[in-house]
Amino acid sequence: MASAENSIPTCPVCHRSDLVKTTQAAYTSGVVRCAPPDMPTRNISMIPYIGACVVLIGILVFLIIVLVASGGMAASFMGIFLSATIVCIIGVLAISFYAFQRVVQGDAETTLRFPAWDSAMATWRSLYYCSRDDVVFDPKACKVVTNEQLAALRASGEKAERTIQQSALASH
Ligand SMILES: [Zn+2]
Repeated sequence: MASAENSIPTCPVCHRSDLVKTTQAAYTSGVVRCAPPDMPTRNISMIPYIGACVVLIGILVFLIIVLVASGGMAASFMGIFLSATIVCIIGVLAISFYAFQRVVQGDAETTLRFPAWDSAMATWRSLYYCSRDDVVFDPKACKVVTNEQLAALRASGEKAERTIQQSALASH
């Protein structure tokens, strides 16, 4: 492994190594298709949303306490108001629970996508780019890597996510 990293491999097209660089170096110099696989990210942020729901519940409970304590309301109206408030609270709680579930699920999906991303990163790091022929190649197999293969490598994280969604659907 150490020798592969230190010595620059020869290009399978022109059989020279003077213009060969790593995919990282190629990407840095502006070769877009040498981009590394996208790191899985937590794209669901519902914490502020849950916080807003908790504040709303607090305000509703506060209103009930104030109105009940003041007693300045007709009994029939008070009943309607109380039931409407309780429905609101239940709704807000249900939404908060749903949001919380989404956060937990999103975290689990991200965790499951990391191994796929990790192996895609390892493959990507082992590839080299020859700027004379504008090709990406695998020095171990001594083969040119096609654009389709590169795209598949970058999308490996997304593919893992799709597999997870399919298995989630199957289990229902
Ligand atoms: Zn070459």
